[in-house]
Amino acid sequence: MVPRGFEYVAPTTLQEALTYLDRYRSDSKILAGGQSLIPLMKLRLASPKYLIDLNRISWLDYIREEGGWMKIGSMTRHHTIEASSQLWHRAEILPEAASMIGDPQVRNSGTIGGSLVHADPSADWGAVIIALGGSLKLSSSSGERMVRADDFFVDSLTSAVKTNEILTEISFQVSKVCGGSYAKLERKSGDFATVGVAAQLSLDSSGVCDSVGIGLSSVAPTNVRATKAEAVLKGNEPTKLRIAEAAKAAAGECKPSDDPLRGSAEYKRAMVRVFTERALNRAVERAKRKAEEQ
Ligand SMILES: Cc1cc2nc3c(=O)[nH]c(=O)nc-3n(C[C@H](O)[C@H](O)[C@H](O)COP(=O)(O)OP(=O)(O)OC[C@H]3O[C@@H](n4cnc5c(N)ncnc54)[C@H](O)[C@@H]3O)c2cc1C
Repeated sequence: MVPRGFEYVAPTTLQEALTYLDRYRSDSKILAGGQSLIPLMKLRLASPKYLIDLNRISWLDYIREEGGWMKIGSMTRHHTIEASSQLWHRAEILPEAASMIGDPQVRNSGTIGGSLVHADPSADWGAVIIALGGSLKLSSSSGERMVRADDFFVDSLTSAVKTNEILTEISFQVSKVCGGSYAKLERKSGDFATVGVAAQLSLDSSGVCDSVGIGLSSVAPTNVRATKAEAVLKGNEPTKLRIAEAAKAAAGECKPSDDPLRGSAEYKRAMVRVFTERALNRAVERAKRKAEEQ
């Protein structure tokens, strides 16, 4: 199908983009990688009168570490994250998750910011950013505000971004002895998750889990945090037994629905258990390896 007609603008500064957004508000849509928006426009499920393309604002594409915080620009492509040796070293959960998104074409065009704002509960980034305890910077012509990842996903396909705002940065704290992993069940390579589990944790000098984040994809109306599973591990040594207990808790607290393509709610719960265990075991291994390297 062909989209309805629209006006196209390609600002070169954030200020210019925000001015367009103020002028056109809900008649407009931001264009990032176009991997979700363009299919929706072709199906006429979205028909903006104005398309505000962010692709010429090149400084929104970056990965940098500053004062213990990792900062990622919203226009950073999935592939840039997948290929970042800095992230493989400091927060491996991100490139690991990126490598499982769609196919090379989607990863070369799609951006982390576009994916987060699109807020598809079966997308991968939301679970990862929740597990990392991330924050999202929203810019508007009246300033900036920070939203915690836990508050960002309002409903299926609805994020906290207002019509006059642009997501500009994703940030999270990094510690030296942390490990993370993203485990995804997909029907075939490149598919959206049947179940996705993101686990990020840090260990203190005696091997006790002093912080833990577990985010889930595809098993609730939004990406969600598995708080009961986290509580099993927080302040305890992450033994195999405790990890199994945490995985059971995650399966109990998620809210999947039956779907004809990816299976029953019961099946998805069982898979949350398996994949939470897998992600946590890998996260612990990685954190321990980093502790040994210290
Ligand atoms: C074949 C295929 C397979 C896929 N498989 C997966 C997968 O396995 N896992 C997965 O997670 N995703 C998958 N995706 C989705 C993909 O990750 C998209 O890249 C992502 O959903 C949207 O990012 P984008 O940069 O393309 O955003 P766009 O499509 O350009 O925009 C998406 C929405 O966000 C808004 N927006 C974009 N950027 C901003 C911003 N900075 N501030 C405010 N609003 C903004 C747009 O207005 C639009 O409403 C797949 C997509 C396709 C086509």
